[in-house]
Amino acid sequence: MVYNCINNSQLGLYPPICLLCNAKTANEMDICSACLTELPHNSNSCRICALPLTQFSPDHPVCGNCLRQAPPFDSCHAAFSYSYPISNLISRFKFSNKLEHGRLLSNLLIRSIEANRLPLPELILPVPLHRSRLRERGFNQALELALPVGRHFGIPVDSKSCKKIRPTEAQSNLHKRERQKNIRKAFSMKNILTDSHVAILDDVVTTGSTVAELARTLKQNGADRVDVWALARTH
Ligand SMILES: [Zn+2]
Ligand SMILES: [Zn+2]
Repeated sequence: MVYNCINNSQLGLYPPICLLCNAKTANEMDICSACLTELPHNSNSCRICALPLTQFSPDHPVCGNCLRQAPPFDSCHAAFSYSYPISNLISRFKFSNKLEHGRLLSNLLIRSIEANRLPLPELILPVPLHRSRLRERGFNQALELALPVGRHFGIPVDSKSCKKIRPTEAQSNLHKRERQKNIRKAFSMKNILTDSHVAILDDVVTTGSTVAELARTLKQNGADRVDVWALARTH
C-alpha cells in the first residue's frame, strides 16, 4: 500500500471533502479550515518526551522527569495529543485501511514539522512491526506515514535495516517496569547505520518505552542523534 501525498481534488477523482465534517474544502488537504483549527495540537509540551508541561518556559521547555533522567532519544515531537478527533482518524487509518486518512495524517505531520522548524535528520526510520502483526494488519502504518514525509523533505526512509524480532504485548496494558522488560531486545539491526542523525517515526507514542528501546538500538548501531516524530502522544 503506497500512496502519494496528494489530496482528492488533485487526484480529480472526488470533490474535496473534509474527512471530519464532510464540508467542501478549499485548502490543499482533506480537512476544512474550521476542523483543522480545532485539532488537539500538542503545544506547550516537553521538547524531549512530548508530554505536557505544567509551566511553559520557551527558553527551557524540558520537564522534570527528563531533567532527572533523559531518555535514550534526543527529542520527541508529537504533533497532537491522542484525543478526538485525531484518535478517530488514526483508528480509521490503522484498522479500516482508509488511504485518504493516511494521506491526511501524513500531511498534518509534515505541516507540524515545518511549523515547528524541526531539524531535519539524514534518515527516517519507521518503527518496525513484527511479522505476525504485519500479516494481521497487512501494512505497517508507521511506514505508510513515513513515505510521504520522506518524499516531501527529500529524506530517505529506511524500513530494511531494523527488524522487530519478537512480538510484544500491547505496552498500554503493562506497568512501567513490565513495559521495559517486554520491549527489551525486541529490535535487531541488519547493518550499521551510515547516517548519524536519524528520526524514528511512529503514529502514536504511548508510553515511550518502544521508541526508547529502538533509539537505544540505533545508537548502538551507528546513530549519534535520534529524534522521534509522531502524530500523537497519549498523556
Ligand atoms: Zn471539517
Ligand atoms: Zn519530558
